Amino acid sequence: MSRAAGLSRRQFLALGWFPWLRPRHIGLAGARFRILRNGRSLRRYLRIHGNEETARQVLERHMETHEGIAFVIESRTRVVAVESLQLDPNRMFSRVGAEANLKLLNPGVAPERVRRALDLLDRGREKLVRALTPPRGGMTIALHNNSSAYSVTAEVPISDQTSLREPGNPHAFFLCTDPRDFETLKTSPYNVVLQQHGPKQDDGSLSRLAAARAFRYVNLEVAAGQTERQREMLNWLEWFLP
Ligand SMILES: [Zn+2]
Repeated sequence: MSRAAGLSRRQFLALGWFPWLRPRHIGLAGARFRILRNGRSLRRYLRIHGNEETARQVLERHMETHEGIAFVIESRTRVVAVESLQLDPNRMFSRVGAEANLKLLNPGVAPERVRRALDLLDRGREKLVRALTPPRGGMTIALHNNSSAYSVTAEVPISDQTSLREPGNPHAFFLCTDPRDFETLKTSPYNVVLQQHGPKQDDGSLSRLAAARAFRYVNLEVAAGQTERQREMLNWLEWFLP
């Protein structure tokens, strides 16, 4: 730090060109992400749930052959700790969404502890959001795995448009926030939903934030263990979306 302090701002910014000086991690409360970089591209990638092992494997291998920046959560569990309370990291992107999730996952918790956790998230959220937001013209792709409890069926009623080309496999689907991406994705043989406006209720997920800030975002969901299927759909997306 002391060496950097002696440099001009211009020199300091130039350090960004040296890969070994760039940060390798970024975090918010108990959610800590490893940063994988490959070349230069407008693509950003995310694996946010620590228990979704298929998504981790697919994304890490993908980054060996595709350019962009990936953020891979390091925890092994679905939830992370915030001020020793449990939180789903894909509910931390708004205060109102995080509050609902903290109350859900920590029944009977004192309001003061919830407020402390929310204040902590408020202080650090924007830094993480900036990292996960794609540059102009770019896109953020989040990889998820689901179990029998969740499928595209849950998203259909709260979506602006849907195209269910594979109704027999509701666990595999794309969720996007940009209508142009929807127009392309619906030509695929896969299920896809558009949530550009989405439901009024803000659940604190990154897809809701992407819709609110109007950046291109695609969620790629498949059932846990469907490695080849997730790889195939990710490759389709890379090939056909600009
Ligand atoms: Zn997930």
